[in-house]
Amino acid sequence: MTDFVAAMHSAFGAERLRSHVPLAAFTTFRVGGPADWLLETRTSDEIVTALKLARSANLPVTMLGGGSNVLVADAGVRGLVIRTRGGGVCAMDEAHVRADAAVTINGLVRWTINHRLGGLEAWAGTPGTVGGAIFGNAHFAGRLIGDLVTEARLAGPDGAVADAPAPAMAFGYDRSRLQDTGEILLSAVFRVSAGEAAALRAIARASLAFRKRTQPLDTPSAGCIFQNPDPGRDPVPDGLPWSAGALVDRAGMKGAALAGARVSTTHGNFIVNEGDATAAAIRRLIDQCRTAVRDRFGVELREEIVYLGAFDEERVREM
Ligand SMILES: Cc1cc2nc3c(=O)[nH]c(=O)nc-3n(C[C@H](O)[C@H](O)[C@H](O)COP(=O)(O)OP(=O)(O)OC[C@H]3O[C@@H](n4cnc5c(N)ncnc54)[C@H](O)[C@@H]3O)c2cc1C
Repeated sequence: MTDFVAAMHSAFGAERLRSHVPLAAFTTFRVGGPADWLLETRTSDEIVTALKLARSANLPVTMLGGGSNVLVADAGVRGLVIRTRGGGVCAMDEAHVRADAAVTINGLVRWTINHRLGGLEAWAGTPGTVGGAIFGNAHFAGRLIGDLVTEARLAGPDGAVADAPAPAMAFGYDRSRLQDTGEILLSAVFRVSAGEAAALRAIARASLAFRKRTQPLDTPSAGCIFQNPDPGRDPVPDGLPWSAGALVDRAGMKGAALAGARVSTTHGNFIVNEGDATAAAIRRLIDQCRTAVRDRFGVELREEIVYLGAFDEERVREM
């Protein structure tokens, strides 16, 4: 470990590698224990260097973008957490822009509108970064962000960098190949087209207004907890909507509360942290929702959010 610390200090400066850093403030749920080690990277090269040094020290690496789709364990995260920060967007030609993993989706939307480029404006209001959006193939109003991607620059867990064309990214609903390979997104190329700034801004505003109307934006959450049922896989009884939130609602769980966590009364697929919820309580409430929907409708809901960190340590402690 001393070798790892020395190498990280020499690569990044002693003050940038921090130990035992609580992660709650870096997540939109405002929940989660400490990272053993935390590095906030500013460039793709820094991500690659950190991956290589962690690999040499046999240390697990966990990526954190905007922390808007994760539940971090109360016991925290072992190993190195890389939190991506900064980054930039650049036009490659008239029809393509490249955005670094750390760029926020809102920042990317703003950049493209300001450069009179259309394609991404409807994604306004999606929390988080390009890295997190590609990892989970973020969706909005029936569209998948992966449909706009033409290429992704990836680093393997060993730091080897390669470009993957979109068809090799295995994009699907809530899916990308990053979930299977453990690869890290460094940047992505998005398809855009010439647009008129005022018209693009109007679409962005409509998305923001829709979110404000339908989501509990004033209380910490991680967005939708569950994926919607998959028509090819999950038999939903006739007459019921193919919507996880509606199923949670009809199973009687809307408004259900547990130790500071509550199923939102605005949106049945959101759980909100009313102030002092723990990750353990949120996870128990998630399980209660899943059980209620299974018992009532025979539908097995799967999480859209990602569990990060040492949930196993918590279970051992509870036993
Ligand atoms: C109010 C609210 C509304 C939301 N609305 C939507 C919505 O409309 N549509 C939607 O799809 N989602 C929505 N979400 C969920 C969330 O915003 C998206 O999933 C977002 O894309 C996550 O990005 P992030 O940077 O916050 O990822 P994080 O939460 O930081 O991470 C998510 C996963 O991605 C991994 N990851 C992060 N960066 C990288 C990287 N560079 N390389 C590899 N893996 C990485 C992490 O390890 C983790 O497994 C919403 C969330 C909130 C709080």
